[in-house]
Amino acid sequence: MLDSLASQSLRSSEDLSKELERLKEKAGLGFELEVYRRPGFKKYSREGRELRGEVQGNKIFVYDQGFEEAKETLLHEFIEYLVDQTNDPYRRIVNALVSLFEDQAYSQREKIVKALANLLFID
Ligand SMILES: [Zn+2]
Repeated sequence: MLDSLASQSLRSSEDLSKELERLKEKAGLGFELEVYRRPGFKKYSREGRELRGEVQGNKIFVYDQGFEEAKETLLHEFIEYLVDQTNDPYRRIVNALVSLFEDQAYSQREKIVKALANLLFID
């Protein structure tokens, strides 16, 4: 039973890697990224929200239990990563300004990421 659980979680992390490869091909970006799945891992943001995933360097960590949720989170973090790669002066100025209103900045960024996810990747 342990064996089948272990191979099941191995298989699902392999599937998530395949999903990431698909996103890279489709976007033509983010080829440096790797994904790590940690189902059930609990982590909270500074504001106390439970994180479903996060990006650290070129690693995407996904904490969702279910595979469909994990795929959604992977997509979200993938786009967030791409958005955060842009380094133009406007973005830096806007970020500096909106960091004065952190909650709003967060939800605005989340809205943009969700919109991009819908536009670009959901068939
Ligand atoms: Zn986010």
